[in-house]
Amino acid sequence: MNRISHWIDGKVVLGESGRSGVVFDPATGEQQASVDFASVAEVDQAVAVAKAAFPMWRATNLSRRAEVMFHMRELVDANRKEIATLLSKEHGKVLGDALGEVARGLENIEFACGIPNLLKGGYSEQASTGVDVYSIKQPLGVVAGITPFNFPAMVPMWMFANALACGNTFVLKPSEKDPSASMFIAELLKQAGLPDGTFNIVHGDKVAVDRLLEHPDIQAVSFVGSTPIARYIYETGTRNGKRVQALGGAKNHMLVLADADLDMAADAAVSAAYGSAGERCMAISVVLASEAIADDLVAKIQERIPSIKVGPASDDGNEMGPLITGEHRDKVEGYIAGAADEGATVLVDGREGAPSRGFFVKPTLIDHAKPGMRCYDDEIFGPVLTVTRVHGYDDGIALINANQFGNGTAIFTRDGGAARQFEFDVQVGMVGVNVPIPVPVSYYSFGGWKASLFGDTHMYGPEGVNFYTRSKVVTKRWPDPRTSKVDLGFPQNR
Ligand code: NAD
Repeated sequence: MNRISHWIDGKVVLGESGRSGVVFDPATGEQQASVDFASVAEVDQAVAVAKAAFPMWRATNLSRRAEVMFHMRELVDANRKEIATLLSKEHGKVLGDALGEVARGLENIEFACGIPNLLKGGYSEQASTGVDVYSIKQPLGVVAGITPFNFPAMVPMWMFANALACGNTFVLKPSEKDPSASMFIAELLKQAGLPDGTFNIVHGDKVAVDRLLEHPDIQAVSFVGSTPIARYIYETGTRNGKRVQALGGAKNHMLVLADADLDMAADAAVSAAYGSAGERCMAISVVLASEAIADDLVAKIQERIPSIKVGPASDDGNEMGPLITGEHRDKVEGYIAGAADEGATVLVDGREGAPSRGFFVKPTLIDHAKPGMRCYDDEIFGPVLTVTRVHGYDDGIALINANQFGNGTAIFTRDGGAARQFEFDVQVGMVGVNVPIPVPVSYYSFGGWKASLFGDTHMYGPEGVNFYTRSKVVTKRWPDPRTSKVDLGFPQNR
């Protein structure tokens, strides 16, 4: 049985806690590996190594740090298929989808290659006579990343690329459900020239996470996962004096106005709801269909579903893989089972005809869902698309803004004025206009509003650089001996 252990000080370190987790092959339902769970002492060891590496890495010049990122960019590019294959094997997503994840993660390494430019501060010459003022951005120290199962390569890249480029050292706690991609990435970082100790991985569960949250030498924590844990990470981390950004769950609505191109809207809804088996925080899980076109739109979505090929990622022809665990499949099936009792109409039931081996649920379509129903209110995180009928724009925007989550949303329309009004009104962090999954490119930042994000900064891009640095302002004078004199008054600009 394959055993996955920690990565500390540039090498694999076998866990000694005696605790471990099961890594399943979601396509068969069988165990394929075990992953060591770190003890408090093992987390402490990783943090100590990262702390020891910090003064050296922090002092490493910007050109050299950028050079490491450029090398890493080449290595990830050359190993796209290897990383994607690991993702498919443990997560279950099909190869094309996994390659997309690698590509979107790689963007963040490319962004971090520009670190010399990104860390430029401001400079004000002659702020006072003979006095110049400038700002500098300095790294924080040891920072931690805690990541979810659904993007085992991309989400760590959202974090470590900027964190390392800014001069921090890093401890990653990946999802225990699919931990291998992060180990491969650690090896690539080493090959890229990143010094040992600068990037470390501890695997595990709440024990490891809690130690990171309370460890006095951890300066900041980046988290991506479900909302209850995100809230806990934010509250615990900030109580312990750390800077925290904690991204949570989602329930992304797509509002389709009566003037939209319905074929385009149906294609988008199907792609964004069922891609990656709906295990994406930016998946569309609710279509808000304007009454005038609702029947047509629902019919167009429904007619596209039978041709979606569901099965193991090992078969190139498949478009949608399994869910991550049997437990999660049972939870998703519970929502489908409950929907009819709640008064919704299950038009396509994904429990029927799903492959018998592995953790599969096929695409599911539920019409007439409403607030107050569990299938509408909760994040299901599976291939379940619900439709809610609305009178039009006002009704739709009111539903979106009343939702507890505010991660992503989209409007489908041909009316530029309505789209602009939507951008203005909607209380959601990432907005698509005729774009169903508006994940920002790496030179913007990613983050939701409301229960989808706890903290002040969004992730990656310019906000990521701000998160991983603190600023210092220097006021400087080179005294001219000809003008020097004693002056006990408060310094003023003269
Ligand atoms: P999760 O919250 O269960 O786990 C995330 C991380 O937290 C993992 O590393 C896990 O080991 C750790 N963890 C789990 N329970 C914990 C506990 N009680 N105490 C301390 N740590 C704990 O999330 P998941 O199931 O891995 O991922 C799916 C969720 O992530 C969905 O809700 C999805 O919407 C969300 N997500 C959000 C974004 C975003 O950007 N907003 C991106 C991807 C995923």
